[in-house]
Amino acid sequence: MDGATLTTAKTVNVILLGPPGAGKGTQARMLEEKFGLVQLSTGDLLRAAVAAGTEAGKEAKAVMESGGLVSDEIVLAILKDRLAEDDVKAGVILDGFPRTTAQAEALDEMLAASDQGIDAAISLAVDDEAMVERISGRFTCGSCGEGYHDTFKKPAIAGTCDKCGGTDMKRRADDNAETVRERLKAYHAQTAPLITYYDKKRSLTEINAMAAIDEVASSLETIVKRVLG
Ligand code: AMP
Repeated sequence: MDGATLTTAKTVNVILLGPPGAGKGTQARMLEEKFGLVQLSTGDLLRAAVAAGTEAGKEAKAVMESGGLVSDEIVLAILKDRLAEDDVKAGVILDGFPRTTAQAEALDEMLAASDQGIDAAISLAVDDEAMVERISGRFTCGSCGEGYHDTFKKPAIAGTCDKCGGTDMKRRADDNAETVRERLKAYHAQTAPLITYYDKKRSLTEINAMAAIDEVASSLETIVKRVLG
């Protein structure tokens, strides 16, 4: 990664598929920096709704804490609002969406309405068992969102963000072993079928996301550069 942002006039929409802990958020943030696309995480949007105490947030809270999936209706409504904002016009990296076939079909319709589509769906393939360890050790900087891990990516100075110097580190309430197992179950039952959905549309690429963060980033960059043309 050379840190330089590549800009483009072409709209490019990328989906990152993969179970919790596969690295979707980390990789989406790296692609955002590199290509100027916008990371769009429905998990982040839902957590913001929960924190703001909106009606949708109130309904979503208990489901998120149990590790299940929030209703398509709520998720699609918050996604639609977000896609209507100006900053996403050059394209998005969808992280954690779609998670059901109904969401994938609704996304196709939303994008088709503005003559867009999915340019690449990338499946981050990982071993489930390793995900419990990956997730249980992760935390983020509350100021800038940079992700860290107790074992795999410690900040240079304990408790201080390498990127912005913030000291307010946060751990997600649903990042505990029990909830992670429920989230993995939900992934296999409801989200994994989307691999076949995008494969049939010939937009799927699978990459080995058990590799080191930079190796995975480099595979993703190659795919995004190819779709940027
Ligand atoms: P994430 O940050 O992607 O791991 O999502 C955290 C939680 O938010 C999930 O375990 C679900 O409860 C909920 N969630 C996030 N995105 C979706 C989605 N596309 N559909 C349904 N529930 C979602």
